[in-house]
Amino acid sequence: MGRTIGIDLGTTNSCVSCIIDGERIVIPNAEGSRTTPSVVGFTEDGDQLVGQVAKRQAQTNAENTVFAVKRLIGRRFDAPDVAQARRSCPYKIVEGPNGDAWIDVRGKEMSPSEVSALILKEMREIAEDYLQEEVEDAIITVPAYFNDAQRQATKDAGRIAGLQVSRIVNEPTAAALAYGIGGEAQRSSMKVAVYDLGGGTFDISILELTDGLFSVLSTSGDTYLGGEDFDNAIIDYIADEFEEAHGVDLLEQPMALQRLKEEAEQAKCELSSTEEVEINLPFIHTGDDGPLHIEMTLTRAKLEELVDHLIERSLDPCRTALQDAQLRRSDVDQILLVGGMTRMPKVRQRVGEFFKQEVDTSVNPDEVVAVGAAVQGGIVTGELTDVLLLDVTPLTLGVETAGGVFTPLIERNTTVPCSHTEIFSTSVDNQTMVPIHILQGERAMAVDNKSLARFELTGIPPAPRGVPKIAVTFSIDENGMVNVSARDEATGQEQSANIVADGGLNDGDIDRIIAEAQQKEEEDRLARQVMEKRNQAEGMLYSTERSLQAYGSQLPAEEFEELMQDVETVKGLISDATLDELETILATLEAAAHRLAQAMYDAMEQQSAGDTSADEEAM
Ligand code: AMP
Repeated sequence: MGRTIGIDLGTTNSCVSCIIDGERIVIPNAEGSRTTPSVVGFTEDGDQLVGQVAKRQAQTNAENTVFAVKRLIGRRFDAPDVAQARRSCPYKIVEGPNGDAWIDVRGKEMSPSEVSALILKEMREIAEDYLQEEVEDAIITVPAYFNDAQRQATKDAGRIAGLQVSRIVNEPTAAALAYGIGGEAQRSSMKVAVYDLGGGTFDISILELTDGLFSVLSTSGDTYLGGEDFDNAIIDYIADEFEEAHGVDLLEQPMALQRLKEEAEQAKCELSSTEEVEINLPFIHTGDDGPLHIEMTLTRAKLEELVDHLIERSLDPCRTALQDAQLRRSDVDQILLVGGMTRMPKVRQRVGEFFKQEVDTSVNPDEVVAVGAAVQGGIVTGELTDVLLLDVTPLTLGVETAGGVFTPLIERNTTVPCSHTEIFSTSVDNQTMVPIHILQGERAMAVDNKSLARFELTGIPPAPRGVPKIAVTFSIDENGMVNVSARDEATGQEQSANIVADGGLNDGDIDRIIAEAQQKEEEDRLARQVMEKRNQAEGMLYSTERSLQAYGSQLPAEEFEELMQDVETVKGLISDATLDELETILATLEAAAHRLAQAMYDAMEQQSAGDTSADEEAM
């Protein structure tokens, strides 16, 4: 078995890690960052960009840049929170073939699994570049609250990315696992609360650690609470102020909104370490009276006021998790923080107050989930042997019985893997067929829960109602995947279903997508190179133009004209240039930049020579 990588497929950022010689390594991407934005951009030329390069072009290509796809994966199109996403996303969310949420970019409809696969493929390539070997096996993490459909769709994404997903692990569980190994936490027995506030989701898990053995006592969360909501609170505040001052609604303008979004997130992050930040957005809108700018100060106190309700909202699931684990707050020995948002001092403070103790900030909140996944990988491959992990099922599973009642077979928060059998019977005389309708949820009536699958057990010998004995068995494996079987005790007749989630892709779809991806691999690589070079050239063009404006007067007029000409020519070529042409363009711009730098230094030298002689004269 080759190396198994651990991937934290995050709503906002993803991270990849692996175990090398027993050491836990977080793998940096080509730009040196240890996390990569979970953003995919689709360009006019049909190229697919992933990560930082996709995020960078989001501003000018907002409608074709997909972010937070994790919120759509395995979801029905008509789910209330998908409707919410449809209102807030600049890209188009459409109804897929099975009534699930798909994405339409540039006229092509794609499932969220396909888009997530592009992110996973990127993470895989980051690992391959670093390890200098092919990687096939991965552990992928998901929020504890993900239902079967979402887990299945995440697994599909892994497969499309060419990965063998050996396990799907709950994020908080992975975090605790990363924390537990070799850490102080390996006391004989302790209870840990993992508070995970990331970019798009919130999870709380209560875990028990006993002599290197983890078990999850309970999980709860909110799949719609995360850093983006904090960003939005800032955006709304700035946009309101702007509208009040100028009567212009910036939220209606995609380009302005994208700039606001970036600025808001940056301000939020900076306010974790400083007391106030300047928000500067020049030329945010051009109206009849000319250009308008945003220039304002945001203080930490104001930010805390704007997001207070969001922090409070995260505490409700904490109460539920404690209740489910039958614990009081004081029973929890340690609070572990996970997710970039937990860097915010106010979050730390409120969580500490809630649990009435200091929170633990010793682990890097952005990386700990990926590290935990890698540790899990180490356990699967046998490289790490001193921990074992038990997980729980997040929602109750059961079947529909007479009168549309939901009859649970496996209660939520049951440790997996697990299996449970119950005997059912027929409801009318001479019934030869029993429909098995499998559901997931906490409501009493079947109709209020999520339908996972249906099948029929046929061939039951005619008998009075209540006589036949039908054994229904639910099994959940260590990935949280469900198998249901129904067996007629008299005839031994059996039917079973592996739950292929609603909204999941069938094998044919997956094979087609994999083949397509393989076919396009070389094309994609080249397109990406061109895009990176183009970005580089555009950056260089921008700085050269600025230097020309600032220092051009230091050049002889003729040379200035010549450089201006060069820059103008290049400017018109960048958007359609090939890789080779872009190299030439870069060389031209570089030459111009060097010439300007030279002129600048010459001028500086002349100036300081003048200053010195002036000083000498004065003496
Ligand atoms: P994650 O999903 O764990 O990568 O968390 C990403 C979220 O954390 C995003 O909303 C980031 O804006 C936020 N974040 C990252 N660093 C900080 C920071 N220093 N202060 C506040 N929020 C942060």
